[in-house]
Amino acid sequence: MTNDLIKTADRVMAATYSRFPIVLTEGDGCTLYDAKGHAYTDFVAGIAVCNLGHAHPGIAQAIADQARRLVHVSNLYYTMPQTALAEWLVEHSFADRVFFCNSGAEANEAAIKLARKYFKDRGASKRFRIITMEESFHGRTMATLSATGQAKIHKGFEPLVEGFDIVPFNDLEAVRNAITTETCAVMLEPIQGEGGVQCPASGYLEGLRDLCDKEGLLLIFDEVQTGMGRTGKLFAYEHFAMTPDIMTLAKALANGLPMGAMLAKEEVAASFTAGSHASTFGGTPLVSAAALEMVKTLLDEGVLRNCEKVGQYFKGRLLDLKSKYDFIQEVRGEGLLLGLDLTRDGTYIVKACMERGFLINCTQEHVLRFIPPLIIQEGQIDSLIVCLDAVFQDISNKPNE
Ligand SMILES: *Cc1c(COP(=O)(O)O)cnc(C)c1O
Repeated sequence: MTNDLIKTADRVMAATYSRFPIVLTEGDGCTLYDAKGHAYTDFVAGIAVCNLGHAHPGIAQAIADQARRLVHVSNLYYTMPQTALAEWLVEHSFADRVFFCNSGAEANEAAIKLARKYFKDRGASKRFRIITMEESFHGRTMATLSATGQAKIHKGFEPLVEGFDIVPFNDLEAVRNAITTETCAVMLEPIQGEGGVQCPASGYLEGLRDLCDKEGLLLIFDEVQTGMGRTGKLFAYEHFAMTPDIMTLAKALANGLPMGAMLAKEEVAASFTAGSHASTFGGTPLVSAAALEMVKTLLDEGVLRNCEKVGQYFKGRLLDLKSKYDFIQEVRGEGLLLGLDLTRDGTYIVKACMERGFLINCTQEHVLRFIPPLIIQEGQIDSLIVCLDAVFQDISNKPNE
């Protein structure tokens, strides 16, 4: 069945993904099962999406209950789950208002549109350019890929959308030098995810905040990957002595149902008025009910605490590996967004781990990225470390495989 399915999939689907040759059929917590009955401990979580793990009983119940009641109505009307979720997000963040959409790219589109309109509304119609970072990732729509600081994501889709100036990450001076009379905002991920788990230098984000205040620019945080508890706090900006003006969320927001959100302070959010922006599916009762259950569980069941504690333990174990293998350059990250930077290609390692029953991810070709469900336990970390140790031992003697 597996081989036939893969053959069919490769024939009928757009070839946009290079997939591993397994067919996943079921999940339970941090474990996934394939069609052949093999079990995998999941350190990918759908790319930082299933933060409460797979088939979470509370989430499943919330989805089922809401599905029996009301799945979708237009945003021409009010609904209870959407309102309750927005209220929760406003109560638990710096923001005053929320716009719901369906993905990270769309959340960033909303942020870009809002930043432009905010300045138009103030008569500064020449201010539309946004400074973004090298190695950033903001999505695959035309505007968000143009904002993304990676040539491989631009390639083939030129001309890019006008208005993005890309500077090196962690270089405050570069941002200062890139500001012109046309600049309206600075947009970045507080920790770069796809870019290889790159953390901000001490004082960098606070420095950006000061710079934006001084120059009258908006500061936009793309927390699509870092939000919803991933770094041990609800939102990554909470690690720093500052807040952005706009924040985008998606990935884990509804623990696997597609949902995005753009949050902003009142003064900024006020530039979105009736008709400014819209989304047919944005914040349907079904996804909102799932997200509402997700955010409650994050706090009620000590998930953030677990993320912080196990994340620290995990990082320590990765550092143990680093002291053992000289092809490990650096261990980076916060909470359960961790990266192992290698001097060699990581593709083979991902494959070898999969064959041993562990799903891990590799980004930028040489950074192993670990983004498991936030409910993962130390015992599961230990098992992965044993696996990595064996794979590393195996390749130490081989050239760049
Ligand atoms: C995944 C990601 C996106 C894009 O989200 P989609 O839902 O795939 O559109 C944007 N920004 C960051 C930081 C991401 O990690």
